[in-house]
Amino acid sequence: MENSKQMRTWLDDMKLDHPLVIAGPCSAETEEQVLKIAHQLKDTDVNYYRAGIWKPRTRPGNFEGVGSLGLKWLKKVKEETGLKTATEVANRAHVELALENDVDLLWIGARSTVSPFIMQEIADALKGTDKIVLVKNPINPDLSLWLGGIERLYTAGIKNLGAIHRGFSTYEKTKYRNIPEWQLAIEFQNKFPDLPLISDPSHITGNREMIFDVSQTALDLNFDGLMIETHFDPENAWSDAAQQVTPDKLVQIMRDLKIRKESDPEAEYNRELSNLRAQIDVIDSQLIEILGKRMKISDGIGALKKQKNVAVLQSNRWNQILGAMILEGESKGLSEEFVLKMFKAIHQESINHQEKIIKQ
Ligand code: PEP
Ligand code: MN
Repeated sequence: MENSKQMRTWLDDMKLDHPLVIAGPCSAETEEQVLKIAHQLKDTDVNYYRAGIWKPRTRPGNFEGVGSLGLKWLKKVKEETGLKTATEVANRAHVELALENDVDLLWIGARSTVSPFIMQEIADALKGTDKIVLVKNPINPDLSLWLGGIERLYTAGIKNLGAIHRGFSTYEKTKYRNIPEWQLAIEFQNKFPDLPLISDPSHITGNREMIFDVSQTALDLNFDGLMIETHFDPENAWSDAAQQVTPDKLVQIMRDLKIRKESDPEAEYNRELSNLRAQIDVIDSQLIEILGKRMKISDGIGALKKQKNVAVLQSNRWNQILGAMILEGESKGLSEEFVLKMFKAIHQESINHQEKIIKQ
């Protein structure tokens, strides 16, 4: 397997018998809220307590975070519960305040990873720190921006690095708040196999009902941990209300997830098998997605032919496509027989679509 880990990281040093768990509210709202959630998460699998203090909001006028006041609350969390703490930093001032107040883990948000200027400013401010720094993927599906952000931190001497996959913006409305584009996360793992990779199903789904499924897919794809937004009263949270879960629900999710702890040969076999199957599932969904797109274009052609009163079947065009695809298939190790069968089926579906349009 490609992505077997070679180097020991901060995560290996933690010697966990479960994936890393970062949980806590989207935003620190009040001191009571921060402490109440922390106490509820105290004796669970949670390793780091998260709370956003400076909140990047897409539109102005929403709750933009309590600011540096919240750092005192995170200190109290650590004193009262022993939980380590985590928050988002987005500029030099945030970094300096977070370091002064001994936050244990800093993450860089999706809106910051897109900006090389900001990433460089943050990297310079963090120079030489031994804190854990996690870089979220940029909001747009651009692998280089994500890798580039990590490289800037690495170059600044930050050794305890990791990444968070939180999905990507799209113009098209989908069932996700930010579509996972799993193949990009898989590519990321291939580029940086030793870097701990954490899944953020909360921001991928935007919907607490979907968090379990996305978490399971992430674990099957060998992710090293989960960051899940958690609040005692999710519906009334000041930000991201639809995606937060209660501490009880988080415990339930962790209990129900198939988490691979053992490392005997049989478990190793099952792990590799479910990883490969998860990759196949990702590609199968893409196949369906792309075939759906192809048929939409066929519908457009059907409408044009109807206008001009042209026959659906154009055999010259069809023979051309087949010839080209057989050659392309050969170069990818696909037999002529398979390519022929597949394209006959695609062509038939395409004809059915066009006939339906023409008969309308
Ligand atoms: C967050 O973690 O609350 C957050 C703002 O996330 P993102 O940067 O992924 O939007
Ligand atoms: Mn959030």
